[in-house]
Amino acid sequence: MSQTELKSIKYRTILLFGAPGSGKGTQGKILGTIPSLYHFACGDAFRNLRIEDRMGRLFIEYSSKGQLVPDEPTIELWARNIRASSLDGKFNPTHDVLVLDGIPRNAHQAEMLKDTLDVRAVFFLHCADMAKMIERLQRRALRENRLDDANLEVIKKRLETYESETKQVLDFYGPEIVHTIDATQSPLDVLREILNTIAQIKW
Ligand code: ADP
Repeated sequence: MSQTELKSIKYRTILLFGAPGSGKGTQGKILGTIPSLYHFACGDAFRNLRIEDRMGRLFIEYSSKGQLVPDEPTIELWARNIRASSLDGKFNPTHDVLVLDGIPRNAHQAEMLKDTLDVRAVFFLHCADMAKMIERLQRRALRENRLDDANLEVIKKRLETYESETKQVLDFYGPEIVHTIDATQSPLDVLREILNTIAQIKW
């Protein structure tokens, strides 16, 4: 597919949304194994960068403090990854549905992606139990060797960033397409709810 063709397509998209530790990544990985769903996790894209890379350094600088990486480089990284996946055939923009996890992460990013994404559903994995999320993140720190999950101060800062910046994304897309799911359920029950809704969307 040519660059011009790629630019003119609005990607059919569903968003996985929720606080750190709400289980977006777990669901995203499973959904990404389903044919014609293409999963992109923004945090994974950042973690795959090399530290010598300008963006890799930016990521360490911000994520180690529990802050969001600035919007322009973040969207640039997203576009670069999606372009590469389209060109190498992993993601077919005309047939596949994009499952985004961790992006857009504030209202400005949502605005920047407005002309590129055709968002049909936002799955809001809601967990009111802060202690439970902190516990999940601390368990993940050991399993996945993630520095930002290991430090309690950084975890708290990330949860604050989520409340003050990320939650606005829900208002941006509006209640008609936001599906709230109880994230304290088992991964299987969360998955069942997501799949039931996806199955009803008329693409
Ligand atoms: P979590 O949802 O558990 O915080 P992620 O892997 O999604 O984990 O993100 C880890 C870090 O990567 C974030 O704290 C942030 O610094 C950075 N990051 C990921 N996605 C974005 C984004 N869309 N915009 C800005 N920063 C991001």
